[in-house]
Amino acid sequence: MDVAVIGAGPAGLMAAEVLAAGGARVTVYECMPSVGRKFLLAGRGGLNLTHSEPLDQFLQRYREAMPHLRFAIEAFPPDALRAWSEALGQPTFVGSSGRIFPQAMKASPLLRAWLRRLDQSGVQLALRHRWTGWSANGELQFEAPEGLTSLKPDAAVIALGGASWPKLGADGGWIDSFKAKGVEIAPLRAANSGFRVGWSDLFRNRFEGQPLKGVALSFGGETMRGEATITREGIEGGAIYALSAPIRDAVLAHGEAVLHIALRPDLAKSDLTTRVSAPRQKQSMSTYLRKAAGLSPVAIGLLQEATIAAGLNLSAMDSETLAALINAVPVKLTGVASIERAISTAGGITFNEIDEHYMLHKLPGVFVAGEMLDWEAPTGGYLLQACFATGAAAGRGALNYLKR
Ligand SMILES: Cc1cc2nc3c(=O)[nH]c(=O)nc-3n(C[C@H](O)[C@H](O)[C@H](O)COP(=O)(O)OP(=O)(O)OC[C@H]3O[C@@H](n4cnc5c(N)ncnc54)[C@H](O)[C@@H]3O)c2cc1C
Repeated sequence: MDVAVIGAGPAGLMAAEVLAAGGARVTVYECMPSVGRKFLLAGRGGLNLTHSEPLDQFLQRYREAMPHLRFAIEAFPPDALRAWSEALGQPTFVGSSGRIFPQAMKASPLLRAWLRRLDQSGVQLALRHRWTGWSANGELQFEAPEGLTSLKPDAAVIALGGASWPKLGADGGWIDSFKAKGVEIAPLRAANSGFRVGWSDLFRNRFEGQPLKGVALSFGGETMRGEATITREGIEGGAIYALSAPIRDAVLAHGEAVLHIALRPDLAKSDLTTRVSAPRQKQSMSTYLRKAAGLSPVAIGLLQEATIAAGLNLSAMDSETLAALINAVPVKLTGVASIERAISTAGGITFNEIDEHYMLHKLPGVFVAGEMLDWEAPTGGYLLQACFATGAAAGRGALNYLKR
């Protein structure tokens, strides 16, 4: 049983592991000179493998895609992922927000141990092999260091990722090959991404890269606490990513959307009003806001930016209006930040193209997994969990197909 796995990210490598354990001869084809580059990047800010919330709640994070991922995630749930990591010498812990991380926080020791185990189970790696599609007689074609090669394995698992951070390997270049086979692809869009804002030069030059800490962002009836960072083009960060799906849809539909930022979400309106009722005396507005309302320079800058945009004057505001503004600063988002900088990708191969084992109806023996499928989820470990789980499900599916 020869199986080609194409794409050496978390989904492809997990499929390879399941296939090798089931007795298949597996070769993993990867276009880059090394494997798991996005996985390694994911580990740089703390590798959030999965989440500890109850499974039913966990599954809700995938919204409309949930019914299509449930089967795979229930078969390889967060607890199984934790046990898998521990078996590779990387025990995990639950962080204060319920997110789960390996104790080492990084992806590199986990990936190293995983690759060793894959090697011991006979999985071959073919690096610098770029899959370019199918030949007329259905062979998989690759651009390889030795030139063009083609092969016809007994089954294939394709896990080429989305299109964010393309320099790490996943660039969405697979779309045309699948479309040529009649496979429906929902357009790839940035997910867990930042947004564009038309900052003034003054604000952008002074505050680019600075975080708004401990804020609460509200959009479309949802509120998210956390952090947001000012970028040259706009705004990004964990709290923004969490709201990014509905914001993106609104921006794409209407050309813009207004986000509200509470700069002191822990202070009740009455408390904040009392604080900003104190006489300003000779203090500058910035010094006054810093002392009276406990605002950081970037928060004050944001407040000033919003008042100028609305043609208002911060110094002339009565205390109630000022307090209300501090906890609902409107920020006009004028576009979605480029997919190159997004954490993940929405869109991809639609679920009506695959069966419950992740096999393409139109290409029997070809299975697909990971971020190239049409689902999205917030950050919090949901992305990797679904990639690992669908990789495992596609691997099991391919084994069953071969044993028929
Ligand atoms: C900055 C950042 C931080 C993140 N942090 C987290 C986190 O903490 N927790 C979390 O859950 N998720 C996180 N993610 C998301 C997570 O890394 C991805 O969802 C996950 O890596 C997707 O796995 P995948 O196997 O589907 O695709 P990928 O990891 O993208 O792997 C696809 C592989 O296919 C290869 N490939 C592509 N095209 C070809 C081709 N034509 N031929 C051969 N090979 C090809 C690519 O080089 C790549 O190695 C983060 C992402 C980013 C960018």
